[in-house]
Amino acid sequence: MNYTLKSNYAYANKLASATDNFLEAAMQQLTYSAKIIEQEINNEKLLKEEVTRLNLQTNSFNSVVINKNGIIAATSPVLPQIMEQTISSPGAIQALEEKRPLISKPYMSAAGNLIIFISHPLFDNAGNYLGYLGGSLYLKERSILNDLLDQHYYDEGTHIYVVDSYKRILYHPDHIRIGTYVNNNAIIDDVINGKGGIANVRNNQNVEMLAGYAAVKKAHWGVIAQRPVKNTLASLDTLIIEVIKRTLPMAVITFILIGFFAHFISRPLKQLANKVNTLDNPASFENFENIKAWYFESQRLKLAMLKGVSILQTQIGQLRHDAQTDPLTGAHNRRSLNGLLNQLMLKQIPFAILEIDIDFFKRVNDTFGHDKGDEALKTLTDIIKKLSRKDDVVARIGGEEFVLILPNEDSESAFKIAERLRTTVASTNMDVIGFITISIGIATWPEHSNDIDQVYKYADKALYYAKEHGRNCCVIADKN
Ligand code: GH3
Ligand code: MG
Ligand code: MG
Repeated sequence: MNYTLKSNYAYANKLASATDNFLEAAMQQLTYSAKIIEQEINNEKLLKEEVTRLNLQTNSFNSVVINKNGIIAATSPVLPQIMEQTISSPGAIQALEEKRPLISKPYMSAAGNLIIFISHPLFDNAGNYLGYLGGSLYLKERSILNDLLDQHYYDEGTHIYVVDSYKRILYHPDHIRIGTYVNNNAIIDDVINGKGGIANVRNNQNVEMLAGYAAVKKAHWGVIAQRPVKNTLASLDTLIIEVIKRTLPMAVITFILIGFFAHFISRPLKQLANKVNTLDNPASFENFENIKAWYFESQRLKLAMLKGVSILQTQIGQLRHDAQTDPLTGAHNRRSLNGLLNQLMLKQIPFAILEIDIDFFKRVNDTFGHDKGDEALKTLTDIIKKLSRKDDVVARIGGEEFVLILPNEDSESAFKIAERLRTTVASTNMDVIGFITISIGIATWPEHSNDIDQVYKYADKALYYAKEHGRNCCVIADKN
């Protein structure tokens, strides 16, 4: 709005000074011609030539006239009916009375034209008044002044108009209004007093206007450039809507692209984060491999995590192995054994327990030393493992006590296996210590009891019996 006010003011100023310049130029043309005419006032041909030149060549006036001694001496265009006549138009009377260069007040001619009359007095060399040279401008018809102002008329509701010192409209884009008066308009009062400025005004149709105005000093006129407020705001609205219209698709596309890229950038990170929650899962290594880390940073993160997962899994595996294994012999420990037995019982797979104890092992230690005793324990483990099948479980449950679990074996078949084991051990010549023997107690689940503790007790009893009855033998537990 402020912008519109200022631009209207600049615009009014520009037109006011253009109008001033035009009037100044017109007066100079008259001054120049007047000098020529004064020299040869009686040369009718020259007078004719000069008015014709002024009218046609300069294009400043609608008509040009020379008044000599109170009567018309030459006109352009040629108007025989007024030749040699006195003229009583207000412009002519004013020129004759005032005898100085002047721009007349606008007046209505006899032919109904709104006219301003610009004139220059003629004097002879002695300073006697001869008459005047004058040009008329028809404000309602096409004139150079109209052209000048019309050129600047532009759209979007902005228009300019020019008033004279009587508040009469001299120019208006709506030519019908030329010649009418503007009343109750504060800026008109200002402008005809030679002031310029900007203002918010209402026109005669009560439409709010943003106006800039400036004075045409030479003629005491005013130029007003104004534009309806609603056009200004409407054009702002249109501008905003236009800006939105043009930028919205781009903005939407940008947002979609941002979302799209954000998704693609964050996807590998999200997937990596999810996988971190399942690092203990043996499949996680493969899961990591499958994540598409398509940019450098995520690729590096992925590799680092893969390395971490691999270390972690190795360590978890090692810990799990350690937690389940007897460190000396590599056989299952008691905890691991219990777990495996629970699985068998859950799956209702019957099994035989062989409880194995080395005979007189204390003596081995005493004779050959504890280290050699350990060697013997390892050798015995190897023999048991060698004779057992894939699903059999070899466990060390005490110092020199072992358990061999035989799934799907009853007492009889277990006994045969136990015997084979016993004889193999007995016939194995071990390093340094020579031969050792073992005793084996045998019980079965669920044949001896459904309660695993009871089954152990049966096997214990059978082993005790074997020890009591000469050792180096296998005994099936008595169910009673
Ligand atoms: P028995 O025939 O009655 O079983 O006689 P034994 O000497 O084997 O008696 P017992 O089973 O009670 O003795 C266990 C001995 O086993 C005691 C200890 O010297 C030996 N022993 C236990 N654990 C270890 C071990 O880890 N390494 C070694 N080298 N010897 C062990
Ligand atoms: Mg023992
Ligand atoms: Mg023993």
